[in-house]
Amino acid sequence: MSDFLKRVSMAQNELKAPKSQYNSFGKYNYRSCEDILEAAKPVCSKYNILLKLSDKVVQVGERYYIEATATLYDIDSDSDIYIESTASAREADGKKGMDESQVTGTASSYARKYALNGLFNIDDTKDADTNEHKKMTSYFCSECGAEIKPIKKADRIIPAQEVHSNCGGLCVGCWNAKNKK
Ligand SMILES: [Zn+2]
Repeated sequence: MSDFLKRVSMAQNELKAPKSQYNSFGKYNYRSCEDILEAAKPVCSKYNILLKLSDKVVQVGERYYIEATATLYDIDSDSDIYIESTASAREADGKKGMDESQVTGTASSYARKYALNGLFNIDDTKDADTNEHKKMTSYFCSECGAEIKPIKKADRIIPAQEVHSNCGGLCVGCWNAKNKK
């Protein structure tokens, strides 16, 4: 492996981009293009790698796509070795409340983010899985539909799963109400 590829690999391993954005509809945190860029800058400079981003507009039929390219160059070398990743995002056609430049800006940062993900081996699907997993391991009361919470006892915490099975699929409130009758 060339020295450049080794440095790129080390930079990929070191890069930790925070997820500073929150999607209130899907209820999950995610990274923006800016999050990845901010995290990438110091790591790239540490390994003498130059990161460049560029966009171009590509027309396919009636639609316009923004094609973003993220490229890593070797600052230590005079030769033209580079590693490149491209991703494209489609222009939303006439989104309400947005002017043309904003639409292009949104598509551009979306495409750039995916190009950067490819370049730095950032796996965004893993985050989605984690959220999905969380959702699936939540337990809900079959009576009132409330999420069943773990119960704190003096000596231990009873996990939601155990509360759920001990109370026959009910939350503690509904279980108590049923057993009083
Ligand atoms: Zn209940």
